[in-house]
Amino acid sequence: HIAIHDVAHRFPGTEYLFEHVNYRIDPGQTVALCGPSGCGKSTLLSILAGWEKPTQGTIEKHEIGRIGWVFQNPYGVARRTALDHVVFPLLAKGWDRNDAEAQAYEALDLFDLGYAADRRFSALSGGEAQRLMLARAVCSHPDMLLVDEPTAQLDTKTAHSVSNVLGNLAGQGMIVIVATHDPDTRNACGRVIDLADYAPSETQPEVTETEAIQIEEIKTEATATE
Ligand code: ATP
Ligand code: MG
Repeated sequence: HIAIHDVAHRFPGTEYLFEHVNYRIDPGQTVALCGPSGCGKSTLLSILAGWEKPTQGTIEKHEIGRIGWVFQNPYGVARRTALDHVVFPLLAKGWDRNDAEAQAYEALDLFDLGYAADRRFSALSGGEAQRLMLARAVCSHPDMLLVDEPTAQLDTKTAHSVSNVLGNLAGQGMIVIVATHDPDTRNACGRVIDLADYAPSETQPEVTETEAIQIEEIKTEATATE
């Protein structure tokens, strides 16, 4: 599992993005990380991945070995096929080519991408490239999969199916954390963390009655000495 203990983060020269974030996430859970643009969703994913150190608090990881990550913007090698993109990481891990291809086709099918297996990366649409990144990440069976805005480039129907696939991945004992604006994706996830709930409050602290009396006293003294 992963435990987030009282995490707060700010970048040098900025206000705190979020404060007092406390969560425990167990294997098999799918979490939607929501909140308005700029509230720190991608930043919290980086913190969970261990790339960014939180300004305050700690992240505790138990039995989390492999971490998969799917970025907001798909990236790949233009002249390589979609299939290559999924197969190569498996070959690099020492898989036999036939096994790797079988596994890759399965992952591509999971995201309705089997038809594009032999297309070059440069020929894929934005949504296809995004789904390819998901297929590749899932193929490596990470203990925790972090996904940033997976449906941003997809039409409603494809977004819906990707949301459902992500929602079901946790059934394999994976932790899946998805930063998203998409209500459909949020609904497909078992849990929701709304980072807006952890934004530092902008209201001035209220003056207590005792403080109000002290202020009055100071004012009175000031007038008395004038
Ligand atoms: P979106 O929904 O638009 O993807 P987000 O919730 O993922 O937004 P983040 O990318 O986490 O937001 O960024 C949170 C805020 O921190 C933004 O205002 C961003 O400009 C700022 N920020 C991110 N990285 C840095 C950095 N390295 N230095 C300074 N500020 C940063
Ligand atoms: Mg983001």
